[in-house]
Amino acid sequence: MSAQIIDGKAFAANLKQDIAKQVAILKEKHNITPGLAVVIVGEDPASQIYVRNKNKSTVEAGMNSFEHVLPEDTSEADLLALVEQLNNDPAINGILVQLPLPKHINESAVIDAINPAKDVDGFHVINSGLLATGGDAIVPCTPLGCLLMLRDRLGDMSGLDAVVVGRSNIVGKPMAQLLLNENCTVTIAHSRTRDLPGVVGRADIVVAAVGRAELVKGDWIKQGATVIDVGINRIATDDGKSRIVGDVEFAAAAERAGAITPVPGGVGPMTIACLLKNTVTATCRQAGVKEPQ
Ligand code: NDP
Repeated sequence: MSAQIIDGKAFAANLKQDIAKQVAILKEKHNITPGLAVVIVGEDPASQIYVRNKNKSTVEAGMNSFEHVLPEDTSEADLLALVEQLNNDPAINGILVQLPLPKHINESAVIDAINPAKDVDGFHVINSGLLATGGDAIVPCTPLGCLLMLRDRLGDMSGLDAVVVGRSNIVGKPMAQLLLNENCTVTIAHSRTRDLPGVVGRADIVVAAVGRAELVKGDWIKQGATVIDVGINRIATDDGKSRIVGDVEFAAAAERAGAITPVPGGVGPMTIACLLKNTVTATCRQAGVKEPQ
């Protein structure tokens, strides 16, 4: 194996420490304690775990955490009423509605009801528009985490060829936009892309956000490329158990890449750290104070 393994866990732990220091300064100098409200509808076990982790990390960073657990049969009107209440609550600086929502609720109606200034997931159409037009967006947490790791590894990315595999609104598209803002030459690949191996093989930076276990083969990777694997896929193992793998064939890709994120332990831990970062950013913008460094 020749690649440097990008340790997302350690990176996230450092970032969380910095955020806790920023929160302490906000409290001391401005008498502000950032507050994050997380809303979850229904009993989806994976979502429950995410929400518990978010709550724990928020409190560890010194912020206030408000959890709203609603039953599966909550109506869209009731959920929208809660969002409106949180929009108007000065103790709440960030609002996150855990996705997916039950089928009877229109997700985009709910996301777009969140005050964009409090939209710490960065999914509101105003925030995606600001990201696309170079404004002060709140950037979706997962792509932001990928960007921070890429900047740390590569510094100036100007002129590099970047390929993002996947074009979802929450990962692929904002990731491509961020890389464009870094002056990369960006290609977005998706399920209709012809010659995916050839497209990936030209890239200095590969971000895989597909949701297909080990779709990106190791021998596609250009020698020395930086590979960020967003995928989280559970696969069955021979002993009847299961394990988590990414969208990239890790061991083979690590033979060719210059640096690569593992799954688990790469992008995943950075996502929650970036949620906390976005909450601090949102709080500072709402209060009109400079983000503590
Ligand atoms: P989506 O399912 O919304 O999007 C997947 C994208 O992959 C689509 O654009 C799709 O193309 C593309 N795709 C599917 N099959 C292929 C293929 N054979 N070749 C090329 N492209 C293909 O997924 P998300 O963006 O929400 O998530 C992607 C992965 O990232 C998942 O594994 C998810 O679990 C993980 N994830 C991890 C997070 C973390 O914190 N680490 C956070 C969020 C997601 P098309 O548009 O043409 O259908």
